[in-house]
Amino acid sequence: MRRVAVLGSTGSVGRNTLDVIASHPDQLQLVGIASRSSIELLAQQLGQFHPPLVCVWDEEKATQLSALTGCPRVGSGLEGLIELVTHPSVDVVVVATSGRDALIPLVRAIQAGKRIALASKELLVMAGALIMRLVQEHCTSLVPIDSEHAALFQCLQGISKDHVARLIITGSGGPLWGASAETVAHVTLAQVLAHPKWQMGPKITVDSATLMNKGLEVIEAQWLFGLPLEQLSVIIHPEAVVHGLVELVDGTLLAQMSVCDMRLPIQYALSFPERWDTLSSRLELTRLSALRFYEPDLAQFPCLRLAIEAARAGGSMCAALNGANDVAVAAYLEDHLSFADIPRVIAETLEQHRPLTQPTFDEVLAVDAWSRNTAQELIHSWSPR
Ligand code: MG
Repeated sequence: MRRVAVLGSTGSVGRNTLDVIASHPDQLQLVGIASRSSIELLAQQLGQFHPPLVCVWDEEKATQLSALTGCPRVGSGLEGLIELVTHPSVDVVVVATSGRDALIPLVRAIQAGKRIALASKELLVMAGALIMRLVQEHCTSLVPIDSEHAALFQCLQGISKDHVARLIITGSGGPLWGASAETVAHVTLAQVLAHPKWQMGPKITVDSATLMNKGLEVIEAQWLFGLPLEQLSVIIHPEAVVHGLVELVDGTLLAQMSVCDMRLPIQYALSFPERWDTLSSRLELTRLSALRFYEPDLAQFPCLRLAIEAARAGGSMCAALNGANDVAVAAYLEDHLSFADIPRVIAETLEQHRPLTQPTFDEVLAVDAWSRNTAQELIHSWSPR
């Protein structure tokens, strides 16, 4: 029996994780849940799963949850999260919050020897070198939940790193792939949020439309698999059937294919190295008419180019990229910034950043705060709408 704690249990990946846990009662037990502030859903999850550990980031909401459910001990803030992830009754921590607030709890979970199932690519983008070193030092494992990385991780089982020529991350292209420059210039928020293949939260859906998501995934792959940038590539694959490919030195391509259902990578991250039956539907090959692959258009999607350049610059540049992107996407979602200005905010923030070559966790958090402030000031100075 694996005892699981979920950071971000009320978000899209969190809810899917609870589905996986509910469908494997003999293998998995939910022992902890945490959310930023969604206490109504947390209360429901407490009623269904009865996990002994619960935490709400917002202290006031934590008190409200306690009153709502009669649950005497609801943790809150950073201290509450650390207590939850390091608790002796937890074996696996699923990190499914996109926020930087999960960075220190993730570090503490690794230091406590917990096995990590990681959905939050942002944390690896910010501090991948430090996180992967800690995983090694503490002899634990970190299994990716991000679907492309889960695909690559599966293809790489039993493969020596010397035999890998390159890793190929696929992307559906998001809702704006193939749209004219004219359409992209006047795109509405509803169009951006209508992802053709995946049901996800608003931040990652905007990242999919700008292709920043693929850029963040390249950086994530670099750290997860310990390969240089030259051995990583992105290919647009509108059908989203092939989630990742490993090209070997002899020209063989290994691909992972499945339906688009986040419960598959989540389940594998929890079952690894075993495999369990799934509730997801199966891929019917004979129903596929075509599998198409295209080079990404870096001119139309400057965010992908910015991410690759940040990865090339290295050091704290990726933390600055991530902070600026977060702020720009939030401003776009609140109608304070146009879609076309998202890459502009990021590019100008990065231009002002003097990267540190080997930042510590504290320095990463300082760069993150600096880039958020810088991006915010740029947005205010441009469009006081
Ligand atoms: Mg992904």
